[in-house]
Amino acid sequence: MHKNTGESASTLSAKTQSTVTRDNFNETPATLAAAQARIDAIDPDAYNRTRNFLNGAVTRLSPYITHGLVSLDQVLRQVNSQQSLSIQHKFVYELGWREYFRHVWTHRGDDILSSFHEGPLAERHYRRQLPDDIRQGCTGIPVIDQAVEELYRTGMLHNHARMWLASYVIHIRKVHWRVGADWLYSHLLDGDLASNHLSWQWVAGTASHKPYLFNAENVERYAPTAWHSPASVIDTSYEALDQIARSGCAEPFMPATAPSCVKRVVEPKSSGTPPDWLQATAPKANDVEGRIIWLVHPWSLGKVPGDLPEGTQVVAVLLSEFHSAWPWAPQRWDFVGRRMAELTPLRWYGDAASIGEALKSTYQVITEDNPHLSLWLEQWTKCRPAPLLFPSLERRFDSFSAWWKKATAGLATAEELLSYEKPTSFKLATDKGRQ
Ligand SMILES: Cc1cc2nc3c(=O)[nH]c(=O)nc-3n(C[C@H](O)[C@H](O)[C@H](O)COP(=O)(O)OP(=O)(O)OC[C@H]3O[C@@H](n4cnc5c(N)ncnc54)[C@H](O)[C@@H]3O)c2cc1C
Repeated sequence: MHKNTGESASTLSAKTQSTVTRDNFNETPATLAAAQARIDAIDPDAYNRTRNFLNGAVTRLSPYITHGLVSLDQVLRQVNSQQSLSIQHKFVYELGWREYFRHVWTHRGDDILSSFHEGPLAERHYRRQLPDDIRQGCTGIPVIDQAVEELYRTGMLHNHARMWLASYVIHIRKVHWRVGADWLYSHLLDGDLASNHLSWQWVAGTASHKPYLFNAENVERYAPTAWHSPASVIDTSYEALDQIARSGCAEPFMPATAPSCVKRVVEPKSSGTPPDWLQATAPKANDVEGRIIWLVHPWSLGKVPGDLPEGTQVVAVLLSEFHSAWPWAPQRWDFVGRRMAELTPLRWYGDAASIGEALKSTYQVITEDNPHLSLWLEQWTKCRPAPLLFPSLERRFDSFSAWWKKATAGLATAEELLSYEKPTSFKLATDKGRQ
């Protein structure tokens, strides 16, 4: 996830001038063209050198990957066509993290939402509410306040900033990782229950051997000056931080209201219902009767597949059971809604029973699987498998390194990985019997 590169944030800026910096992408338009522009801009060598820096040459592709506008396979295929990569290249390796988290979710199901084992402290030591000063970006610790402000403003956060924020929330402020994970998920454009919740567990030390800790020196090295946090609670040694993480008492580590905390940020209000402008209606059988349907959902917003039978109708669904459990900030509704609106005028919002009832009148429903919705999708139809980049492994691997070793065994290049046969076959029903 994170490795020291021996460079500093200031020496880096000169080197990345001609490559992608996060300032190039202040907005995240929900279009295939925007995803393609980000893919075209990938420079694997700059990525390798600089990914841990906040102004490093990262891709900012995650909202597009999470929502299925592009797959890991498509991204790597295009990058590799410009420059052949070794299987051990940092870029391939980081794509691996995403698929590893998917692997864990597939094997463990919703158990990923609870601690795998105890972290540095017993569960009872962690609070079940996020303190207001964190929520309002007003802790007085620049690295935390900057991260919260950026999260709310853009719906995005660099990986390093996510790690710092999570570590502070859990280990300094003694907030249970699940509380922090749910909060972050609701504000991210790329919120993914596996990548997000398992990363929080990794930082917490409930899915790894030790807690992830960071100090002011680390921030100074990888972040711009406005994020530096000298003379704050994190301006100390790793030994001291470890002691804090293992101490059950939050109060001594609470920051005093620092003078640098001059403005509070307003938390965008998350919601479980789609915005009115999207005009998502209740599911209606009349709209789809006798038709073959390509069912679009928030995690399958890519191109409509070219191999669908002629006349296939595109219907987008938003499932109330999922969205009321996992509300989204307005920016994410905007991202998903805009792409859905581009794909089809027929958009439904309803519960599983009403969507299922309406779909009964169709000739056939075809869709792509995704673990966020698997339980419901399989009630309605047989799904095409979600696209995978790495070989899917039958046995569960509890550490990334063990999974990586097995998933890449015998492969020397990204080309070899890409030539793996992926499970994509799907049969069209030949009779009126629905799947
Ligand atoms: C606390 C915490 C919460 C996170 N929550 C999410 C989340 O909800 N959704 C999400 O997609 N990622 C999450 N991540 C992982 C990572 O931070 C983001 O994928 C990455 O910052 C996205 O920016 P990028 O597209 O520029 O990444 P790049 O560095 O350009 O990487 C390219 C792609 O590889 C994948 N990737 C890279 N690093 C990781 C990683 N460490 N874990 C998983 N996938 C990775 C992503 O799909 C990413 O888009 C989280 C990490 C932490 C520490």
